[in-house]
Amino acid sequence: MKYEKIRKIVLEAILEAVDMGLIHGTSGNIALRDDEDDVVAVTPSGISYSHMTADQIAICDLNGKWLEGPFKPSSEIPMHTAAMRARKDIRATVHTHGMFATIAAMSGELKAVTPPQCEFVPVGIVPFTMPGSNDVAEKVVEALGEKGRAVLIQNHGMFCCGKDMKAAMAATVYTEEMAQTAWYAKVAGVFTPMPDEAVARMKALIEADQAV
Ligand SMILES: [Zn+2]
Repeated sequence: MKYEKIRKIVLEAILEAVDMGLIHGTSGNIALRDDEDDVVAVTPSGISYSHMTADQIAICDLNGKWLEGPFKPSSEIPMHTAAMRARKDIRATVHTHGMFATIAAMSGELKAVTPPQCEFVPVGIVPFTMPGSNDVAEKVVEALGEKGRAVLIQNHGMFCCGKDMKAAMAATVYTEEMAQTAWYAKVAGVFTPMPDEAVARMKALIEADQAV
């Protein structure tokens, strides 16, 4: 099987996301760029993830053109490859329709409430744009900017990225956690985000790899 390594990593990640309840049915998709060739392994379109095998993961070029695999790539491939083309540091991308991230997108803001979440803020928010379009891909890339790790898409879900799959999955987990905590805290009437200055200090510690 060609590109076995990246296909296996994508398969493991999508199964983990399903296990964690971040992905239901065939919603959500995950992509990983190869270290040497400019190709991307991406989950296929419309196929149940629970019995998926690595050879069923699609391979595309960086423009989203389908190169390998029995099933066509996710229709949301433009978002994944646009982010990878825009930023060399982005090798892995995860898109989910997480419930709390979707609610946070409607509320128009998402703030860190615990120290580990500081790595992933500020979280950009883009208005609803047709899924799978180049338009939504451009808006997500713009909202990510030079360093962004997570973006919420209104009435759709979220898009996270990282230097590898572990980093992209961490962004996904913590962004959903941030949204979930904010939602319950707001319902309870006790919502208190971390102060901006503390967020900036935490981010600096995390970037310097000095956070405990
Ligand atoms: Zn989607």
